[in-house]
Amino acid sequence: MPMQLDGITLTADDHGAGRADGYPGRSRARTHAVDRGSVDVQAIRRHFVFPGVGRVVTNNAASTQPPDELLELYRSLAAGYENVHRGQSDASRAMTALFEESYDTIARFLGAPGRASIALYRNTTEAINAVMYSLLTEFRDGDNVVTTMMEHNSNYVPWYAMCREILPRLGRRVEYRLARFDPGTGELDLDHLASLIDARTKLVCCTGASNFLGTRIRLPAVRALADGSGYRQPSGERRSYLLVDAAQLVPGSFVDVQALDVDYLAFSFHKLLAPFGVGVLYAKEHLLASSLPFLYGGDMIAEGRVFPDRVGYTCLPWKFAAGTPNILGAIVSAQALRILLDLALSPECPAYFGTGKPIERAAVESAMGRVSAWNRQLTSRALDGLGAIPGITIYGPRDPARRTSLVAFNAAGRDPVAVAEGLNRAGVESRAGCHCATLAHHALELTPRGSCRLSFYLYNTLDEVDQAVAAVAAIAAGPSGPAERGFPWTG
Ligand code: PMP
Repeated sequence: MPMQLDGITLTADDHGAGRADGYPGRSRARTHAVDRGSVDVQAIRRHFVFPGVGRVVTNNAASTQPPDELLELYRSLAAGYENVHRGQSDASRAMTALFEESYDTIARFLGAPGRASIALYRNTTEAINAVMYSLLTEFRDGDNVVTTMMEHNSNYVPWYAMCREILPRLGRRVEYRLARFDPGTGELDLDHLASLIDARTKLVCCTGASNFLGTRIRLPAVRALADGSGYRQPSGERRSYLLVDAAQLVPGSFVDVQALDVDYLAFSFHKLLAPFGVGVLYAKEHLLASSLPFLYGGDMIAEGRVFPDRVGYTCLPWKFAAGTPNILGAIVSAQALRILLDLALSPECPAYFGTGKPIERAAVESAMGRVSAWNRQLTSRALDGLGAIPGITIYGPRDPARRTSLVAFNAAGRDPVAVAEGLNRAGVESRAGCHCATLAHHALELTPRGSCRLSFYLYNTLDEVDQAVAAVAAIAAGPSGPAERGFPWTG
C-alpha cells in the first residue's frame, strides 16, 4: 500500500515496475553534473519557520533547524502508521519498505556500498558507544586505542571508560593515548599522532572536524598512519581500524566513506536538518558481519532461530537493529538528506524529497559543494569581522578553507557565558561553555574554561553574520556586567 503525502505517493520501491522513478506524479528525473553554482539562500529560508519569527539561528553546530516539509512528513506518515518487520498488513509492509529504503538513501549519500553498512542509533554518541561495545571483546591485553585532544567527549569518554573502567574488571589492560594539537594553528599534530600509533594500536579514533576549533582533520594522513601500524586484526588485516566522528563533517561536506577508506564513521541527523533522535554508524560490512552486536533482543535474530541452547542472528543491517527502532525518525532523517540536496540544488523545484529514487553521487557532490562553499563564505565573514574587534581571541585555523562553519572565540576579560547571554539579548543565538570539547579547552588553559561559539548553516545570511559580529563588538566594548562568573565550570 503506497502512502499518500499530500498528493505525492510515497512508496519504497526504487525500481517500481512501470514507473520512471517509482513515484507517480514526480517523474522529474534529472541528472546532475558536478557544478560550482551557489545556494539560493532566500529561497531556502522560505522552507523554514525560524526566519518568520525573527530568530538569528547561529548555533547550528549544536543542532540545525528542520524544514517545514520534514515536520509535515511526520503528519503524513500517520495515515499508514505501523511497526516494521512485525505485521502482515499492507500498512506494516509499506512502512517496512519505507524504513528499509531509508538505509539505502543514507548509504548512497555516504558513498557506502549498500544498506548492510549502515546501523542507526539515537545519535553520534550512541553510534560510537556501539563500536566500543562491539569491539570490547576483541581488544587483547597490552593493546591500545589512540584518539586526540580535539575530540568531542563522545569520542573520548567511551574509550576512557573502556580502558579505565570496563576492561580492567575483565582483567585486561588496554591503554588510550591522546594526540596533541597545535594551540596556535588548531591543527592536529600528525607527528605526535604518528609517535603514538604502534603495532598494538587496534583502533585510531579521530574527529572529522573539531566542534570547537573548527579544524578539518586531514583524514587521508590519519588513515595512512593507521595503515602503517601493522596491528594484526582478527580478520587478518595488518593495520589499525579508523573510526571517524563525522558529526561536524557530514552536515557541510561531501563525504565518501569508500574514498576515505574509513572503517567506522558516525554522525547525527539533528545537525543536518532532521529532527532529533537518529544517528548513523557507517561501518565496513565485513566488520559488522564479524563483530558482536551492541544490543540484543527482538528483530535482530533470524526468524525462528532462537532455541534454549542457541540463537541465530539475522542478516545485516538488521543484526544491529534490536528492538522496535525509531521508524518515523529514520524515514524522516533519510528524507532530510533528500531535502538537503533539493535546497542546495533547486529549492523552488525539488527533485529528491518525497521520493525514493536513488540519489546520484554527482548530485550529492554538487549539493554538498554548494553547502560547503556558502558555509565558507559565512565563516570567512565571521572570521574577518570578529578578528577586527579589539580583545577578541579566535580559536582554530585562520584559513576558512581549513575549517567548518563555526567560530569559537573569547573576549578579553569576559565570561563567555555572559557574552552568549549578551548575544541572546541582542537576538543572536550562540553557545558558550566547553561544547563537550573539554580536553581541548584544558589544553588551551582557558580561564574561565570555556568559549563562545557562533555556527552557521546553509540558510544563514551574511547580514546575520554581520548582526552577530556587531553584537559581539558591542559586548566587547561595553562595561563588564554583574553576570560575569568565575572559573571553573565544565562543559
Ligand atoms: N562529536 C562532535 C564533533 C559533535 O559536535 C557532537 C555534537 N556536539 C557529537 C559528537 C555528539 O553528537 P550527539 O549529541 O548527537 O551524540
